Amino acid sequence: MGAPIKAKITQKAENLNSSLQEKSTEFGQRDNGVNPNSWTIEDSEKLYRIQGWGEPYFSINAAGHVTVSPKGDHGGSLDLYQLVEALRRRNIELPLLIRFSDILADRIERLNACFAKAIARYNYPNVYRGVYPIKCNQHRHIVESLVRYGKPYHFGLEAGSKPELMIALATLEPVANPQNNQFPLLICNGYKDQEYIETALLATRLGQRPIIVIEQLEEVDLILKISRQFEIKPIVGVRAKLSSKGIGRWGNSAGDRAKFGLTIPEILTVVNRLEACQMLDCLQLLHFHIGSQISSISVIKDAIREAAQIYGELVKLGAHMQYLDVGGGLGVDYDGSKTNFYASKNYNMQNYANDIVAEVKEACEERNITAPVLVSESGRAIAAHHSVLIFDVLGTNEVPRTPPIAVEEKEHLIIRNLRETYNSINEDNYQETFHDAAQFKEEAISLFNFGYLSLKERSKAEQLYWACCGKILEIARKQEYVPDDLEDLEKIMASIYYVNLSVFQSAADAWAIDQLFPIMPIHRLTEEPTQRGILADLTCDSDGKIDKFIDLTDVKSVLELHPFKNPDRSDNEPYYLGMFLMGAYQEIMGNLHNLFGDTNVVHITTNPKGYQIEYLVKGDTISEVLGYVQYNAEDLLENIRRRTEQALQDNRITLEESQLLLQDYERSLRRYTYLMDND
Ligand SMILES: *Cc1c(COP(=O)(O)O)cnc(C)c1O
Repeated sequence: MGAPIKAKITQKAENLNSSLQEKSTEFGQRDNGVNPNSWTIEDSEKLYRIQGWGEPYFSINAAGHVTVSPKGDHGGSLDLYQLVEALRRRNIELPLLIRFSDILADRIERLNACFAKAIARYNYPNVYRGVYPIKCNQHRHIVESLVRYGKPYHFGLEAGSKPELMIALATLEPVANPQNNQFPLLICNGYKDQEYIETALLATRLGQRPIIVIEQLEEVDLILKISRQFEIKPIVGVRAKLSSKGIGRWGNSAGDRAKFGLTIPEILTVVNRLEACQMLDCLQLLHFHIGSQISSISVIKDAIREAAQIYGELVKLGAHMQYLDVGGGLGVDYDGSKTNFYASKNYNMQNYANDIVAEVKEACEERNITAPVLVSESGRAIAAHHSVLIFDVLGTNEVPRTPPIAVEEKEHLIIRNLRETYNSINEDNYQETFHDAAQFKEEAISLFNFGYLSLKERSKAEQLYWACCGKILEIARKQEYVPDDLEDLEKIMASIYYVNLSVFQSAADAWAIDQLFPIMPIHRLTEEPTQRGILADLTCDSDGKIDKFIDLTDVKSVLELHPFKNPDRSDNEPYYLGMFLMGAYQEIMGNLHNLFGDTNVVHITTNPKGYQIEYLVKGDTISEVLGYVQYNAEDLLENIRRRTEQALQDNRITLEESQLLLQDYERSLRRYTYLMDND
């Protein structure tokens, strides 16, 4: 969990200024008797906050479809709904992850432009050399694209483990001329064993220039031993545990008891060890990482100030310091509120670059030392925007709002009470009647549990209770202010939208750490979304749902959605939802709960004529996921075949049925793990 909800409200309120006019509580949804035909795309923009989190990549066109402008402000745009329809015509099924490679290019360009601007503005006497932390999204097409797009900026890679090091060594081009400083960096973080260090050091013979960052004291002796053995001079960094603490979910990545990095006494031990071997000149980099998604700029500033001092001290001790690596943490505004709430950030990329450059420059001038090459390991800020997950709604479950009509002769007192309550609800007593209705319902259940109420009577009582809630909700939504005790009403009455998706596979952080992602329909945005719903996924797990949504103030517990069946159009028109900013961490964190596998993935690049499907990575088939848990599809099929033969012999199944069963079984093995349209 991130910051407690109440804290969030105050944090956000402090940061809000003019935008308060558009304050929307769950109740004040501007449907104050407004005719649904007057709904505009501007209303949809505001409701889903698409400008807040989506600019400059996502917006809504006149047709009421979400559009994607993968090159930001300078390039054409695609109609996301039409793109999905076109992909489905190519038999690419939902759920579908669409990656826009041009967005990756734009993010790298932006990050470098921000640092270039800051360096010019503050007259900073050195350069910026960013690296992409591979752990953020390791897929080959992404890492390769990033290395390609990053070339003009000498953008490098960061490895946090041995497998990631192996990716980096094979993907980054060897350095032609290490003297001119015009090459991408390769930063080696994470726990290291002998093989890790050996591989990194020997790769220098191939023209790589890995910087080995010491995170554990034991690594120093290993590095010294291996470099002596091969007579290769290493380039070494140290990761410092800062005392400046991060805040939010990953706040514990820093501080004295953090999992990673060296305390100040340990850093001094490293310096002494290196000095004793006349290798202090190998120590060239200082690294820190105070956590991901840092939502407050003041936290970043504090950390940089502390790190800049440590850097200066290391120079004083005689290390040949060249690089200051500020790690990750550059946030993404998932809820578009521009606040220091955990799903947001109260600064932009330019503020971030400015603060780093200005702080380091000042610290170096004070000490009269050479300013370092500035390194950042921004993963989330580069990768998040480029992926969109598209999924379809399979059906809905709504709470009935009409009271049972039949008034029988001798209705139980509790039912008569509920009926009277229902009839008496009005604008003046809606709060009071809500409590009455709730209490009568509780009583009805007690009566049932003691055997005084039949199942039929209980059903009536529940229907009347929901009818009361529905009627009260109608009134509450029209009020400017909604009493606290009615806040759960939207939740009680929310529709359940069943979606073709596994939260565990596709949005792991939404399940595990309550991360918020913007979710909205990608079409019908000229139509007022009159329903309020939560999303339930395909798994048989009660955690497999999404019931927290972005909002300007606080988190919403229901999402505005359209009636599943579009009354204006044919009955089988699909309803597509998009989950946005999915490119960082979600894919690799996803798991196979209930054996829902990887989704289909397409990479789209734009060109002057439109777009092109650069890659298609097919999602797992059932036979593949069964393989992950050691079932052999052939064996399973053979087993079923034998059993059908036996059933045939015993006359328990007809030949036609047995063939259909085998055909379905065999075909399913080759199918996508998600639900398919019936052909
Ligand atoms: C995870 C991690 C990053 C990436 O952080 P983001 O917040 O995604 O930019 C950078 N450096 C280190 C050491 C990390 O562990």
